[in-house]
Amino acid sequence: MPAHSPPFPLPALLPRRCVRQAAHAGLPRPPGALAPCTRCDAHSSIDHGAAGIARTIDAILGKIRRVTLRRVILSAAAMFAAAAIAAKGESVQTYDAPEPGALSPRNASYDIDVRLDHAARTLSGRQTIRWRNISAQPASELQFHLYWNAWRNPESTWFRERKMARNYTAPLPDGWGAMDVTAIGVREPSGALRDLTAQMRFIAPDDGNTGDRTVMAVPLDEPVQPNETIQVELAWTGRIPRGIARTGFIEDYYFIGHWFPKLGVLEDRGWNTHQFHAPTEFYADFGVYDVRITVPAAFVVGATGRQTARTANSDGSVTYRYREADVHDFAWTASPHYVERTRTFTDPALPPVEMRLLMLPEHRGQEDRYFSAVEATLKRYGEWFGPYPYGHVTIVDPAFQSQADGMEYPTIFTGRARYLPSRSRQTPEMTVAHETGHQWWYGIVATNEFEHAWMDEGINTYATARVMEEAFPDNRWERRFFGGHLPWSFRDIPFTRLDNDRIAGYRDNSEADVPATPTFRYWPSTAAVMSYNKTALWLHTLERYLGWPTMQRILATFFQRWQFRHPRPDDFFATVNEVSGQDLTWFFDQVYRSSNTFDYGVQDLLSERRGERYRTTVIVRRYGEATFPVDVVTTFADGHRITEKWDGLDRRAIYVYDRPAQVSHVQVDPRRVLLLDTAYTNNSRTLNPRSGRAGMVWAARWMTWLQDLMLTYAFFL
Ligand SMILES: [Zn+2]
Repeated sequence: MPAHSPPFPLPALLPRRCVRQAAHAGLPRPPGALAPCTRCDAHSSIDHGAAGIARTIDAILGKIRRVTLRRVILSAAAMFAAAAIAAKGESVQTYDAPEPGALSPRNASYDIDVRLDHAARTLSGRQTIRWRNISAQPASELQFHLYWNAWRNPESTWFRERKMARNYTAPLPDGWGAMDVTAIGVREPSGALRDLTAQMRFIAPDDGNTGDRTVMAVPLDEPVQPNETIQVELAWTGRIPRGIARTGFIEDYYFIGHWFPKLGVLEDRGWNTHQFHAPTEFYADFGVYDVRITVPAAFVVGATGRQTARTANSDGSVTYRYREADVHDFAWTASPHYVERTRTFTDPALPPVEMRLLMLPEHRGQEDRYFSAVEATLKRYGEWFGPYPYGHVTIVDPAFQSQADGMEYPTIFTGRARYLPSRSRQTPEMTVAHETGHQWWYGIVATNEFEHAWMDEGINTYATARVMEEAFPDNRWERRFFGGHLPWSFRDIPFTRLDNDRIAGYRDNSEADVPATPTFRYWPSTAAVMSYNKTALWLHTLERYLGWPTMQRILATFFQRWQFRHPRPDDFFATVNEVSGQDLTWFFDQVYRSSNTFDYGVQDLLSERRGERYRTTVIVRRYGEATFPVDVVTTFADGHRITEKWDGLDRRAIYVYDRPAQVSHVQVDPRRVLLLDTAYTNNSRTLNPRSGRAGMVWAARWMTWLQDLMLTYAFFL
């Protein structure tokens, strides 16, 4: 560092990441041949401009000897850069460029020592956080998530929302969780620890609920300036809940997520630290995690990252050390019963990935199904969006009744297996593909799930459905009976990509919320419909409207531009517009900024004989408030077909044809581009309906369902 450097050096303000940078970093470029982004070529973006400003200011600072004045100038420069970038809508945090040689800013790094007391069901931990303020403003306090306090008392916001959703069961006496910070301080340059324990307080920024203790604020004696780093040290204890919301214990199985005091995200516009809500949970900065986990010797441990050490202790316990860089969370699991299986994913176009599967013995027979779903997703997501960068992944087969099925954390996730596996490909494959996919959409593109859960859950649901369609096409509907134990596969009913888009659950709640509402404010019982179902369906609609090659380029560009950062919805919409070459704001106004629903249909079909010819009148109607261009295809008795392109804006469109043949039928959107149409049965009309035949078809389908159900129950009589 040159002698004139200020106490908090100005960061290198790099251009936004593009494929050129990915190539520079030695990562193989995914198929789909993206061009380098225009920012790198043009050298005219605000990032390059800000970098120029930074260099100029840096030079000025070199001539100024007084530290206070340098601080003032530095702060002003930071504010200016932030304002300029915010005006472009490009950055959540001004100094979010990757550290040199790293993939991410690595501004929130955790060293944690944690000990599991199996008999007492507690954790005790000590942790050191190295936190760099990458926002444009000084930080006068720190804010932490204490997730396990969501299960500390029935008045937490999490439990309140569960009650509102009519999804509340009082925990058993050992079912409650808790997180208590017993000490916190800041390590000063002198080496002394400035104790801040007495200043800790709980806040409830979302709802003012004084019964909620999931966010802790700690005022600092000295503000942390932009780009300045501090070291925070904490001691804490945690009471492990009986399995709830995919974390906790059941007998001697543990899945430990959301388990340590974790910093919120300081954005340019202030702290973003939401309370723990029933439908949303993630948002954190990237860092390096170095975690030492001490458990009884009999336990097998799996965790985020790679195991770097194993130490046997004199008290009979064992300490496992795991490390991972460029991740924003850390989870781990322990059980004496795990059977470990390893394989390596290889592909000529992608980097290899070591896969470690921790299975419970009763699910041993499903090993191949687990691995094949991980491999299918690593391959396709790697080709479509960008390669998986960590080189390893751990898949956890959760215990029965652990409440831990299907959950994502960086480089580790839980799947879902059953004692009696399904014959269809819904589980474990669909769950495993989805959780593998979250490594891209959540893990690497680290959107704010509290506010925009559609950006991880929705994009991932859409892309997972595509993986399933390609990799596991022979998929059938299935129902499970008797508490989920007994699978029953409906061999005659295919489970299609639209089912994986969750179309069935969409229509009943399609107007439940405006998707642009922050997710933690969605109605709890229907939040998933907005985040998963509606998003997957409008993305799939966009795919059918633009074509998959364009859609793939959109997602690849978005992924590579925003990997290891925190994009917002407008960043996604801007990428769609840029890559498609169209202004699709009208579409996002419909599907994202309103709760209007789509429903196009045929209102009437008339035919009049006029001499030797027929006059056909087609009346199509927009029944819903939302608009979308649709094709109207009229077919005549002689086979002639006319396609009209209706912009779908008016309530009705009327088409009149004088032709030698009588009309046969008319269809609105016959290619079914608009998957959000809530009533597809009104989309066609036949002049002379064969009503008897239609009735037979419906009755036969209904009888098939009934017969399958009766067979299921008869099996147990
Ligand atoms: Zn998910």
